[in-house]
Amino acid sequence: MTIPSDTALNTVSVPDNFHQVFLTAQNYVRHYFSVAQSDPEKGLIEFSGERYILIRAASLSNEFFDMMALLYKDRGEEEARNLSFNFLFDIAHSIGKADAKSFFSKMKVTDPIEKLSAGPVHFAYTGWASVKIHPLSKPTPDENFYLIYDHPYSFEAQSWLDQGKKTKFPVCVMNAGYSSGWCEESFGVSLVTAEIECRAKGDRHCRFIMAPPSKIKQYINNYSKKAYIKYEHYKKIDIPEFFKRKRVQDDLRNHKAHLEQVIQRRTDKLKKANQGLEEANIALKVMLKQMEQKEKADKESFLINIKHSILPYLKQLGETSISHEQQVLLDRLEKNIHDITSPLISKLSSTYLNLTPMEIKVATLVKEGVTNKEIAQSLNVSFNTITSHRYKIRTKLGLKNKPKNLRSYLLSLEE
Ligand SMILES: [Zn+2]
Repeated sequence: MTIPSDTALNTVSVPDNFHQVFLTAQNYVRHYFSVAQSDPEKGLIEFSGERYILIRAASLSNEFFDMMALLYKDRGEEEARNLSFNFLFDIAHSIGKADAKSFFSKMKVTDPIEKLSAGPVHFAYTGWASVKIHPLSKPTPDENFYLIYDHPYSFEAQSWLDQGKKTKFPVCVMNAGYSSGWCEESFGVSLVTAEIECRAKGDRHCRFIMAPPSKIKQYINNYSKKAYIKYEHYKKIDIPEFFKRKRVQDDLRNHKAHLEQVIQRRTDKLKKANQGLEEANIALKVMLKQMEQKEKADKESFLINIKHSILPYLKQLGETSISHEQQVLLDRLEKNIHDITSPLISKLSSTYLNLTPMEIKVATLVKEGVTNKEIAQSLNVSFNTITSHRYKIRTKLGLKNKPKNLRSYLLSLEE
């Protein structure tokens, strides 16, 4: 197929060093759009076998903003405008990226400038705007990418002007989205575009700066200095972000995940603290039980001691020559001591008369079913000491060398 060549580049304005490559692109795109087919019966418009759709421009610009303002009336003018901006930018940026990919493959180009070249021409043929790239531009496939360009005849600014509406903000958000999408695909770097001046708000042109997100503010600042315009004016400029909603959603999701982690860590900490409290509670119960056991053993040994050390002397006193009156008092004393101690001392205690106070304590605890280890802890003596006491108790109770369980024996004494 022979494509008749143009000699003049008239669909786009570029610095001289880009002239030839854009002229080649213009020849290609012009021919591409010359092979047209329209068949309303089938609802079909095609250029070079590729299907296109026609959209009334105003419906995607000032009329879209109006509709969103009405829909989001309750949330205020600014939020409605931001939503419109984000929506139109995302759509246009996606279309720009997809169209770029399709043309790279059709034109079989690989160099970034060649890839870029068809974009503005395609833009002109599809009715978005014509493009004028300024000589200060340095489109390089890296972090230093800088493009400054105008879109004379932008369909967006035009739609507002045709309605007689003057805005306070730049309106050419689809122009910005489409061009940054195409360039992003051409240069393989992430790019954003800000429209710094717009005809819809009374500026002389619709002017854009395109750069990587990390550089855009710096470039706008530099431009404002050169143009002798206060930077304050440019601070208000919206810098669109492709699929901002997704980023916001991701941020929210990450924040939620972070909160869940914090909650989980706190729950784990509480669980641990709770476990510590439970363990302390168990230890306290054990201590309390040991104290109760010791108290019981102490009481029993105390009462036995009274019986041991007082009653024999009272008995001896009764055998001396005392008056009848003294005898009566002595009997009462003996009876009272017996009454005080008897109900409290178990039957087995009398059997212990020849046991030492310590052995009585041990025997009492053995009878209660307390282990040697626990008895040692209760009485604050070593394990071996308890074993030794047990041996002596068995001996004194006549159980030495007999296969009889000490506890069972002690219990049998109580029956
Ligand atoms: Zn504009």
